[in-house]
Order: sequence, then C-alpha cells, then structure tokens
Amino acid sequence: MTRLDAVVVGAGPNGLSAAVTLARAGLRVQLLEAHDQVGGGLSSAGLTLPGFVHDLGSAIHPLAVASPAFRQWPLHAFGLRWVYPEVPAAQTLPGGRSVLLRRDLDATAESLGRDGAAWRRLLGPLVADWEGLLHDILRPLLRVPGHPVTLARFGLRALPPAEALGRALLRTPEARALWAGLAAHSALPLSTPGTSAMTLVLAVLAHAVGWPLPAGGAQAFADALRAYFEHLGGEVLTGVRVDGPRDLPPARVTLVDSSPGVLLRLLGDRAPAAYRAQLEGFRYGAGIQKFDYALSGPVPWASPDLVRAGTVHVGGSFAEIVHSEAGWRSERPYVLAAQPSLFDAGRAPQGQHTFWAYAHTPNGSAADVAPQVEAQLERFAPGFGERVLARHVTTAPQLQAFSPVFGGGDVNGGASTLWGLLARPNLAVTPYRTPVRGMYLCSSSAPPGGGIHGMAGHNAALTALSDEFGIGEVP
Ligand SMILES: Cc1cc2nc3c(=O)[nH]c(=O)nc-3n(C[C@H](O)[C@H](O)[C@H](O)COP(=O)(O)OP(=O)(O)OC[C@H]3O[C@@H](n4cnc5c(N)ncnc54)[C@H](O)[C@@H]3O)c2cc1C
Repeated sequence: MTRLDAVVVGAGPNGLSAAVTLARAGLRVQLLEAHDQVGGGLSSAGLTLPGFVHDLGSAIHPLAVASPAFRQWPLHAFGLRWVYPEVPAAQTLPGGRSVLLRRDLDATAESLGRDGAAWRRLLGPLVADWEGLLHDILRPLLRVPGHPVTLARFGLRALPPAEALGRALLRTPEARALWAGLAAHSALPLSTPGTSAMTLVLAVLAHAVGWPLPAGGAQAFADALRAYFEHLGGEVLTGVRVDGPRDLPPARVTLVDSSPGVLLRLLGDRAPAAYRAQLEGFRYGAGIQKFDYALSGPVPWASPDLVRAGTVHVGGSFAEIVHSEAGWRSERPYVLAAQPSLFDAGRAPQGQHTFWAYAHTPNGSAADVAPQVEAQLERFAPGFGERVLARHVTTAPQLQAFSPVFGGGDVNGGASTLWGLLARPNLAVTPYRTPVRGMYLCSSSAPPGGGIHGMAGHNAALTALSDEFGIGEVP
C-alpha cells in the first residue's frame, strides 16, 4: 500500500475542509471519523418521530456562505442548496412584540426608530467591506492585517463588553434587546470584554449575506463536503475512533479535528511539558442544553412577524438577557431557537414542524433546564406546549460525549474571550502547528474559533501544505 500523504482525524466541518484542502492540492488523504456519518456539529438525524429531520449541532449558517474556503468550492455540484429565510433573525419582546434583524441594513435601521442612525453608523462601513473584515478575522489574529482600516474600525467596537457597548450606543428597548440577543451567541457573560466581536460579526453577516440553512438539513452540507472530497480522490473511514498514537496510520502529516485534550493524547510523550501545560489550561465558555421538538404545527408566536425569521432569540429585554447570560441559571433564560421546517418543508411531515432550541448552562452542567426553557417559550408563544408531539433533550455532558470539541457543552469549542481568541489553543503566530513535526490541530479550538466556516481546517491544511510539501504559503 502506498504511504498516505495526510491523515485527518475527525470529520466535523473543520476536518472535512482540511481534507478537501489537502486533496485539492493533489495529496493522498485519509479522513477518519468516530461516528458512522461525517459532519460532527454539522449533522442531522431523526431524533424524535418518523419523518422529522433534526440538526444535531448547527442549524443556521451565515459563516458558511461567507467562508473564503467554502465559497470557492463547487459544493452545489455535490448536493448543497441554500435556503434563505426572509428575515435572518428576530428578537422576542415583552407584550407579544418583536424586533427583526432584516437582511436589508436600511430597512432594519428604519425599524429601529431613533436608534436607526446608530445602527447604520455602527454596521454600515463594516457591511461595505465584509469580505475584507472576514479575511482578517477568520485566521490567527497575530497577523499583519490585509484591510487595516476596516479591521481597526471593527476592533475598536469589538473590544468592549457587549453590555457596555449596547448601553452606550443604543437607546431604545428594541435595539438594545436585538443587540443583547446577538451578543448572547458568545456563550459568555455580556460584561466580558470582546463579546461585542461576535455580536458585530453576526449582524454584519445578516446584512451582507443572510443567515441561510442547507436544504434537507446540516447533514446535506456535510455530505456535500464528503462527496467533493471523495471526488478529489480522498478516502473516508467512519466508525473509527483514534484513541492514541498507535491508532494513527503512518502519513507525512496528521491534522486533528478534535479538542486540545485529544490532541495531547495523540501526541503522547512527544509533547514537550510546556506545550502540554498550555493546552491543559485551555478554557471553555458556557455549556448548553439543547431541545429538539417535533410539533403538530408552527410555533404559535404571540408576534406574528416571528414566522418570517429563521432564527429567533427568545428573551424579554436587554436587562433580562444580560441577567440570564451572567450566570446561566436564570428563571427566564435566553433561548436561541431556529425553525427550519418553515422554510424547508422536507424537514417534517406535511403541516408539521421541527423546532431547534438551546439555552446556556454552566460548563459541564447536566441540570435540567427544560421547565424554565419551556416556560419562556410559552410566555412568547402561548400554546407552544400543546403543539409538542415529541421532544429530544441533549445535555452539556452528552454534547461533549458526542464530540470532544464541545468541551463541557461549549458549542464554540473554547471560550471566545479576547485571550481565548488570541491564544487558541496557545499563544503562537501559527497555533495550528504543534511542537511535533507533521502534527497539526485543525478544529474550532484553533483560530478562528466556533461556527461553520471550515477556516480552522482550511488554514491548518494550508500550513501543513507549506511546511511539509512546499506548496503555497502559510495563511
Ligand atoms: C448544538 C449546537 C448548535 C450550533 N449551532 C450553530 C449554528 O447554528 N451555526 C454555526 O455556524 N455554528 C453552530 N454551532 C457550532 C458549530 O457546530 C461548531 O463550531 C463546529 O461544528 C465545530 O467544528 P469542528 O470540526 O471544529 O468540530 P466538530 O463539529 O465537533 O467535529 C469534530 C469531529 O471529529 C470527530 N472526532 C473527534 N475526535 C476524534 C477521534 N479521536 N477519533 C475520531 N473522530 C474524532 C468527532 O466525532 C466529530 O465528528 C453549533 C454547535 C452546537 C453543538
């Protein structure tokens, strides 16, 4: 048997994009995945009743359609089709009201009344150069910026805590609640410096590219990546868990789409003590508890506008969301929800619907938050409970057992604090490299962090190609 050029351990979105990047360069690549299907946090299954398709991890994919890697690949030829909800995201408000984050920046600004001008000022210039912005932030941060003006503009506003920036820039309850609902994606208390970064990126993407979902579910996207990889000559082995160095097939390079802890296990005694100590100190953000529902009809939102949105941030006000995210033990939790079958009919039997939702919990907590989550849903959608045909719950420890990347149930694969983004998993100019030649980390525990963009895998693969094969440059 000819020796492999490259092995990729783990077929999450980052493992898949690493494998595709290496195969596109003409390498002989093998991709190993513990589960029977590829995708990791980008996969779907029938968790509830026959005919209902649920996304196990990601549901909504703004970073994927903006990703410099995914955008350049012909994934549509391998079955990927994007579905765009009319409204990217919405925020519930007390009194059966809501506020919409529309695709159009001006329409959103107009709907925000006296905060419209502030919204335009904050986001307009970033939306105008969104490609430049993403080029500079979807890679290790210790780099000379390619778009310094945009990056400086972003950085000034990204550094403060989302709570402080929201209070300073916005006045109306509607705009403030919208801001807090976006900020809560960070899985950190909104008083944490740097939480404005994810808030801004999500808002910019809503206006620049939309927040779409793959027709058929997240699995269709992962399967398209797999099919493209196989078309390029790559080999996928599923049902293969790599537990230690002896499980690794010989290859010139090995890329690991897993946690820093698993990486250390695979490096074994080749990892120097200092590197081991750095990775053992790797920190995670909040965990989540996730709820997948099979419903007899659409969610009966008190605000009828909410059926226009793919994503709904459920929570009453700026203060309520700030409180909920401060310790993740609130009686009125912030609930992040998606309603895919409203826009993609194939996800559920005719007239019935899927509903995807999660609330943050302390990292690693298995405490049942269903009563609080369902009380919140009932508050903003009276009669919700009567539509529930079946429910599937995933706790934070179960999520970690599904993929070690989601340590303690953290969907971002590591805390998105300023330090957590800079030193991911350690402070280095090119943190995909390990001290062991030929071994690389390519998961969301490396830059740029969580989300379906494939850029950790792509950048790690480009680094390996340059280091070991003399192909191209380190990104
Ligand atoms: C509930 C939830 C909701 C989310 N929602 C969104 C969303 O709407 N939009 C969005 O952009 N992002 C979302 N995310 C985040 C996104 O899913 C993750 O950032 C992304 O999946 C991380 O990709 P990854 O490849 O780094 O890791 P993973 O997706 O975890 O993939 C790692 C893969 O490697 C395999 N693996 C690991 N170790 C080994 C080993 N030793 N041997 C063999 N195989 C191994 C695992 O089985 C897994 O398949 C969500 C995540 C979760 C959990």
